[in-house]
Amino acid sequence: MRSARRRSGTSPRCSSRRTRCSTISSTWSAGRSGATPCPRANGPERVTEKAHDAIVIGAGAAGLMAAITAAQRGLRVLVVDHANKVGKKILMSGGGRCNFTNTGTTPAQYLSANPHFCKSALARYTPWHFIELVERHRIAYHEKELGQLFCDESSKLIVKMLLDECATAGVEVRTQCTIERVEHLDDGSFRLHTAQGRLVTPSLVIASGGLSIPSMGASGFGYTLAKQFGHEVLPTRAGLVPLTLTGKHAERLQDLAGVSLPVEARCNDTSFRNFMLVTHRGISGPSILQVSSYWQPGDDLRLDLLPGIDAEAQLREWQATRRDAELKTLLAEVLPKRFAQRLCEHWIASKPLRQYTPPELRGIADLLSSWPLIASGTEGYRTAEVTLGGVDSDGLSSTTMMSRHVPGLYFIGEVVDVTGWLGGYNFQWAWASGHAAGTALAA
Ligand SMILES: Cc1cc2nc3c(=O)[nH]c(=O)nc-3n(C[C@H](O)[C@H](O)[C@H](O)COP(=O)(O)OP(=O)(O)OC[C@H]3O[C@@H](n4cnc5c(N)ncnc54)[C@H](O)[C@@H]3O)c2cc1C
Repeated sequence: MRSARRRSGTSPRCSSRRTRCSTISSTWSAGRSGATPCPRANGPERVTEKAHDAIVIGAGAAGLMAAITAAQRGLRVLVVDHANKVGKKILMSGGGRCNFTNTGTTPAQYLSANPHFCKSALARYTPWHFIELVERHRIAYHEKELGQLFCDESSKLIVKMLLDECATAGVEVRTQCTIERVEHLDDGSFRLHTAQGRLVTPSLVIASGGLSIPSMGASGFGYTLAKQFGHEVLPTRAGLVPLTLTGKHAERLQDLAGVSLPVEARCNDTSFRNFMLVTHRGISGPSILQVSSYWQPGDDLRLDLLPGIDAEAQLREWQATRRDAELKTLLAEVLPKRFAQRLCEHWIASKPLRQYTPPELRGIADLLSSWPLIASGTEGYRTAEVTLGGVDSDGLSSTTMMSRHVPGLYFIGEVVDVTGWLGGYNFQWAWASGHAAGTALAA
């Protein structure tokens, strides 16, 4: 249900007051930030505002969804972000086409210390709700694989859609607004000290995301604030991230950078079948990004190099039918040629198939179906798509995302200890948790 109701005095037009001159516009065009910074932000005068029912920190996927949902219910909502434009991660997502949801979303595709926490929000705001929004804005999309939905044209259309919804609902969005500190006042409200002056609000939503891609505005702000308000923050680490190799694995594979092959990557009782890509620093590709969220230094990582093929049966068949062929020649029929050759240079002694004994064939089959790869680390937050860990969900209500310790304080999106697999699940969590908070915020 959409309502464009605005309260008096909350017009998003530029006001004469110093701190209210950044505004969204319904004529926003793709590629612009959609919000303009206050031109006098650095002036000496500092004003305290009380005009908002809720302030959202973070104009990303979760924050914008929360703001839209609350404003459609008639709340006066302000979104502040320290970056120079909104939705930067949406813009760079999905290779510029934003994998905005996954139609197969279930709680099973999320990592969290409490796997039940995400259930309520995901059940109440499903991929179909977001698809309905996308279709209403006439954004063309397609399914790539396994329920992953991407824009046909550009991620910019998703940001434009969110900003159009903000404008219609009367949400005010301010960019380049740095928050210096947040105080909890005796009456339960929150006072934000920003570079543009002071803001006071009865409800504060933290949607400042995780630590991945610091160059895009990521910061540890949400974690610091959570601790300030007595919340536990579970250890964070990079997820959906390429793995690095050192030592002999690096030496043996480095010059194969660019080679890609289907594998099943396995770690800690979890496996992902998809492509692996050899990179200059290690390994990447969807199967590796997925398994990286389950891997920690020292964990056993195995790759099935012939997923879907019974390696021992295949070797025995070759021994019966192509006895004089060398193993490296035959492996090059089922693996990229250079990769097969490299395997036979360093890990498997290649000879004509007739010369292998049954135990030797079994050993080769074991290696092909469970190749141990010793990763030295990850590429870290610089390239990670997500941050694992974060604000402990035990301190939050799973239906409203509100703090159990501090009424009026909410945490949504990636800052919370809920992390999805690759494939549109992270945006679905951002939309769903943002919608849960936006529905619960008090007028
Ligand atoms: C390269 C890349 C590609 C991705 N592709 C996909 C994809 O296709 N599908 C998918 O589902 N997920 C994808 N993800 C993950 C997805 O982008 C995130 O999970 C999602 O954006 C999280 O939303 P959020 O609103 O919680 O946080 P964010 O989108 O990170 O938004 C947080 C906002 O808070 C602002 N902020 C941070 N600190 C402060 C501060 N101190 N003061 C004020 N503002 C602050 C930031 O500037 C930012 O605008 C991708 C991530 C990356 C890095």
